[in-house]
Amino acid sequence: LFITLEGGDGVGKSTQAALLEEWLRERGRTVVRTREPGGTAAGVEIREIVLHHRGDIAPRAEALLYAADRAHHIATVVRPALGRGEVVVQDRYIDSSVAYQGAGRVLDADQVRDLSLWAAEGLLPDLTILLDLDETAARARLDTARTRYDRLEAERSDFHARVRAAYLALAAAEPERFLVVDAALPVAEIAADIRRRLEDRV
Ligand code: C5P
Repeated sequence: LFITLEGGDGVGKSTQAALLEEWLRERGRTVVRTREPGGTAAGVEIREIVLHHRGDIAPRAEALLYAADRAHHIATVVRPALGRGEVVVQDRYIDSSVAYQGAGRVLDADQVRDLSLWAAEGLLPDLTILLDLDETAARARLDTARTRYDRLEAERSDFHARVRAAYLALAAAEPERFLVVDAALPVAEIAADIRRRLEDRV
């Protein structure tokens, strides 16, 4: 079972990933909790490059770096775990690339998706949880953002609006793969929503 979490910065993806992991473990499943970019040793270095050069790296180069991280991560961590019958709970995947490098950096969304699918040899998640946050709430969270990268992006007025719209369009196109949750809801309520959706699969 391959589960991914998606959404803008600071919407609570890692909190929900941790709660989901705990719940799955209680149900006797072996869980690999991982993330992109940076789910492998090489990936951590790629993550440093993309985040360090953020804003001044050519968009296609950025997309290729994310794809390189993904190719290595899927081949060496995710596929082996799925092959052992484990559950993979992953913070960000293909939809992040389509939303950020596609809509955010204004590359062709289909090309970005094709590149990602090539990198991952076609692997798609069984479930993608989209933590959606409206403009005002997102801005309030970004104003108290943790990293300078977040603040940098916050200054680009329409970047997050484009990313959010792209995510919602992806979810609307594949309703059977996506669960869209209002990220402004209490943490426990979101976790319960996610568990309900997974109840009969684990
Ligand atoms: O979610 P995480 O903190 O790991 O992401 C690091 C940063 O990289 C975030 O600011 C996120 O918006 C950005 N990112 C991106 N394109 C991706 C994945 C992440 O711009 N494909």
